[in-house]
Amino acid sequence: MHLADPPLHRVGVVVDTPQHSGLSGPLDYLCADALAPGTLVRVPLGRREVTGVVWPLDAAAAQALPEGQLRQVAEVLSGLPPLPAAWRALVGFAAGYYQRGLGEMALMVLPPELRELDDVQWQRRLRRLHKALAADPGSAADPEGPALTVQQAAALAALAQAGAQPCLLWGSTGSGKTEIYLRQSEQVLAAGRQVLIMVPEINLTPQLEARVAQRFPGRRIVSLHSGLTPAQRLRSWLMAHLGHADIVLGTRLSVFTPLLRPGLIVVDEEHDPSYKQQDGARYSARDLAVFRGRLEGVPVLLGSATPSLESWFNAMPVAEGGAGRYVRVAMPARVGDGAMPRVRVLDLSRAPKPPLGQAPPPLAQELLAAISERVERGEQSLVLLNRRGYAPVLHCSDCGWKSGCPHCSAWRVFHKVDRSLRCHHCGFTERVPRACPDCGNQDIAPVGRGTERLEEQLAEALPGARVGRIDADVTRHKGALEAQLASVHAGEVDVLVGTQMVAKGHDFRRITLVAAVNPDAALFASDFRAAERQFALLMQAAGRAGRDALVSGHSEMWVQTWHPTHALYQTLRSYDYAGFAAQQLKEREMAGLPPYASLAMLRAEGKTQEAVQAYLQAALAAVEPLAEALGGVALYPPVPTPVQRVANVERAQAMIECPQRPALQRFLAQAHPRWLALAQQHRRSGVIRWAVDVDPLSI
Ligand code: ADP
Ligand code: ZN
Ligand code: ZN
Repeated sequence: MHLADPPLHRVGVVVDTPQHSGLSGPLDYLCADALAPGTLVRVPLGRREVTGVVWPLDAAAAQALPEGQLRQVAEVLSGLPPLPAAWRALVGFAAGYYQRGLGEMALMVLPPELRELDDVQWQRRLRRLHKALAADPGSAADPEGPALTVQQAAALAALAQAGAQPCLLWGSTGSGKTEIYLRQSEQVLAAGRQVLIMVPEINLTPQLEARVAQRFPGRRIVSLHSGLTPAQRLRSWLMAHLGHADIVLGTRLSVFTPLLRPGLIVVDEEHDPSYKQQDGARYSARDLAVFRGRLEGVPVLLGSATPSLESWFNAMPVAEGGAGRYVRVAMPARVGDGAMPRVRVLDLSRAPKPPLGQAPPPLAQELLAAISERVERGEQSLVLLNRRGYAPVLHCSDCGWKSGCPHCSAWRVFHKVDRSLRCHHCGFTERVPRACPDCGNQDIAPVGRGTERLEEQLAEALPGARVGRIDADVTRHKGALEAQLASVHAGEVDVLVGTQMVAKGHDFRRITLVAAVNPDAALFASDFRAAERQFALLMQAAGRAGRDALVSGHSEMWVQTWHPTHALYQTLRSYDYAGFAAQQLKEREMAGLPPYASLAMLRAEGKTQEAVQAYLQAALAAVEPLAEALGGVALYPPVPTPVQRVANVERAQAMIECPQRPALQRFLAQAHPRWLALAQQHRRSGVIRWAVDVDPLSI
């Protein structure tokens, strides 16, 4: 080094390094300037140049190389203020808790476009943004909301009492939870702070955005979800980070949005499984929201009519056997005295049997009659079936051939619109064969029923009725869902067939009957959360009916079942969520399942089931002494996943259970490097990927 050269500073930078590299902490670089943690930089990594985030150097890190071997930071993205310490703390916690690399986590949660820009482009972006903001200064004057109901006023008072403690707002569908979110937001905005409101699905953001915009016309509202263009997403993120956005609305990824002046975090429909990421870093945005709230001293409001049992338990007072961590605020009644629809549990075993050799009708006669009555009265009905396509499988009655997927251990679904057989797991699609591919029989028949077939059958059974359908097939194209919803709202549909997609959130005014036609599968599923999810779905679906006080008096929720006495339906009859939860919690406690225990799932994928299982066996054997030393950590033998082969990849998993969360965390942290090393050894035998899923949602 030349004597006149200024001294170089050593800085830590986290970059997205692949899992198998074993590098997870910050890497050391040199830079002419001392850089503040949170600064974005471009650094050389191998032969590439990548975006990284400056991180405090880990003094004890063994990878600290002598200065002579370090490379220099290529560029500092100076236009952007450093990401706040709270953001780094959140990312650091998430990486540790969910067993992912720090750099992977940090870079994953930044807008993708941010990785592409150099400093010149950055400066240009920021100038453009500031120009747009100057043209639209916004306003801080918020108009008044509607007069509160007594119940809402009481809820707000309870929330005020709770201070910065997380709150669970347990309110029936239509009880006015959104209004509570808006009131809380109003206070926070008035204090000059920002609000983050999370919703489970992209589909629900435009609706909420419209409502929030209407309520706060002068405020700057941005949305953040994966449906935005990269440029839009970057813009929303920047607005939040720079403190220009007052309200940020987003899906799970928005939990990582840096906020300059955070004031409130709302998690709407907190029980929704969409808050858990299902691949890569499998984080729970709801749980991270609670962590973030504590970190930043900001209240967190979780809202649901059917809270997750974890949140319910957290909000249950210690005296009642709960954890007493959250404040529970209840709003049992609907706004305007609209009653919940009457529940009718229809016993299929008592329905008349179809003639021999004929399939049973899609709906029991009684139910069909009830729908027909509504069609005549000009009211709408919603028929729920959680299976899209025409039929789940085609079958040859001569030789027994079935429409299996050649790449997955699953049937291919028959879609009649384009006469295709589609695999819902890997996407493999072919035209329906004219005859059985095995024996040439011309008479291959659909077995079972999906929404497409139900729509067709209902149109036949209800002549004159306008039958519509909403599911992922109909709404694949942009704008299709909005168009279909609009036609329902405009009264152009009498009977709407749909999957769970329609059960969520939508505000249908003229629906007076909701029917779940095949809800039994969940009762006997191997997944211990299936009943909880089904109960939530049915409650939500019921919430779609009778939202208009004018029609709520004669609204009905029908359930067609072979098991009418099942506890799930019995508690549903009286919308007794608390009763359902109590009974589920008792089962969970006896079985040692969440929320009474913490789970992690070690998952692996590979070329053969043997290879994958061998890896998992070895992985468990390697950490058995560790589990014993820590105490309380139980390791379960590996099993194939419910759909064990997808796109020619075999999958298996092993469950790890521990009554204490911190002990499980310690165990995972120590087990991780061993699993990593073993996975490298097992690569040759055909193991492709492995991952730990902490607090897995589906098992
Ligand atoms: P939830 O989110 O609990 O399902 P919403 O917030 O959507 O309930 O409220 C249900 C309906 O009641 C909405 O149409 C909403 O505009 C209306 N509403 C909520 N609060 C009030 C109020 N205080 N006065 C009048 N209408 C209200
Ligand atoms: Zn055949
Ligand atoms: Zn497939």
